[in-house]
Amino acid sequence: MSERGFGVGRACDPVDEVPVVGRMRYAPNSGGGYAEVTPPRCPAGHVLGLGRVLLGQHYGARRRLYTCVTCQSTGASGASWSVADQPVIVTERFRPGDAVEGAVVTLELHVHGVLVGDLDYRLCMPCRLGVIEHMRIAADHRRRGLGTQLVRTVLDRHAAVAWTTSPVAPGAAQFWEVVLPASGRPGDARYCAHMRAADDQTS
Ligand SMILES: [Zn+2]
Ligand SMILES: [Zn+2]
Repeated sequence: MSERGFGVGRACDPVDEVPVVGRMRYAPNSGGGYAEVTPPRCPAGHVLGLGRVLLGQHYGARRRLYTCVTCQSTGASGASWSVADQPVIVTERFRPGDAVEGAVVTLELHVHGVLVGDLDYRLCMPCRLGVIEHMRIAADHRRRGLGTQLVRTVLDRHAAVAWTTSPVAPGAAQFWEVVLPASGRPGDARYCAHMRAADDQTS
């Protein structure tokens, strides 16, 4: 295994010359949290299956470094590349009732690998209704736009849905007025029969 794959930055292979190609990608773990997703192909187009890619770390910039084994074996330049950091990650927490229409779905927000917030919502596509029930952001991570990012993740994934929320604290009313689309109604939760039935199925 070449040292190059670990991005140690030897003089003959300065890590700063490694190109940055795309962003770090993640997928949710079944048990919560998330896992890194290796790119499907190298920049030259080789498929990066098992044993076809070396994972390293670009220590200078603290980025993940990949090396394509195929490129490396042919002596091609550019066998290594890094991906841009993705400090804020939103993933869905899986649970048994996920497939039930109208059941509570939880999104988790990680910043540099630390869970700092989550959001519960319900969605019914037949009725085109969505209810945001709770959002929690760790006290030392507030006022950084993370709550907005979390809510927008939900709204962007589900277009043409009328959004309401469970009752909001007086201090949070303005936040919800701004972040919800014009059709949204903060604090005026509208539940459909599917959402109520989902509670019976999943509780
Ligand atoms: Zn390659
Ligand atoms: Zn419904």
